[in-house]
Amino acid sequence: MSRVADDTMPVGTMAGTPQVLLAHHLKQLKLPTVLREYEKVAREAARDGVDHPRYLLRLIELELIDRERRTVERRIRAARFPAVKSFDTFDFAAIPSLNKMLVLELARSEYILRRENIIALGNSGTGKTHVALALGLAACQKGFTVTFTTAAALVNQLMEARDEKRLLKLQRDLQAVKLLIIDELGYVPLSPTGAELLFETFSQRYERGSTIVTSNLPFEDWTQVLGSERLTGALLDRLTHHVSILTMNGDSYRLKQSARRHAAGVVQNQATEIVDPDTGEITTT
Ligand code: ADP
Ligand code: MG
Repeated sequence: MSRVADDTMPVGTMAGTPQVLLAHHLKQLKLPTVLREYEKVAREAARDGVDHPRYLLRLIELELIDRERRTVERRIRAARFPAVKSFDTFDFAAIPSLNKMLVLELARSEYILRRENIIALGNSGTGKTHVALALGLAACQKGFTVTFTTAAALVNQLMEARDEKRLLKLQRDLQAVKLLIIDELGYVPLSPTGAELLFETFSQRYERGSTIVTSNLPFEDWTQVLGSERLTGALLDRLTHHVSILTMNGDSYRLKQSARRHAAGVVQNQATEIVDPDTGEITTT
């Protein structure tokens, strides 16, 4: 960038030079919104008779707002949500067993500052994953780092890391995240090593960060998953020390929705939809 104006530039276009330099500097300073908006805002400022400090303030405010939005988007991508869901699309009336006031309070994400946990318990299809995703999204928007995973995936990841001698690094990463969401504890029984590694994760996060666990199993059945009574007791001890429990028992929302679709005649051919209550996958026969 030693020469901004070259010989081919006709006389009279030198006025373009500061814009070129400005664009270069703004890119280097990582101020994309200032770059995008400064001409438009300048026209508005001239029209409205706004002075220079106010013009600059307006531009910098736009950059800040955009930067916050970009940071939230980055946090959402880093969380690895399987889908982005919010409470806007959650119908509380469909699940009367769920304490709506408590959920809305939790959506403020203040429990994360207190390093408290959440456990959502209930049968399949009652919206546990949806609620966990919505709480995760709310946390991202409030500025917290989030990681979403399933119990099975997490245990696989931990075992793989252990085999490849990078367990400490993974454990450190899992410890650092402000909100760890572990979905679907209970669908797959864990090996003794898997259960031990999962326990370690809870243990290391204890009073350091918040964890959300969803499970289709009541506490008394967690031993079936973790294999050992002693381990289950120790895990529950840590997890439930500071905890909000969301009771989500009811009819499967998926089955209800598909029944409603059938009743409304949306599925008009003879094909029958079979909805897998665990995966939500729809098979047509
Ligand atoms: P679970 O994790 O308890 O098995 P999910 O959260 O996966 O249930 O819910 C199954 C499907 O139904 C998802 O697509 C989810 O978004 C939707 N769903 C469940 N409950 C509700 C609800 N109360 N309002 C809106 N959508 C819901
Ligand atoms: Mg689920």
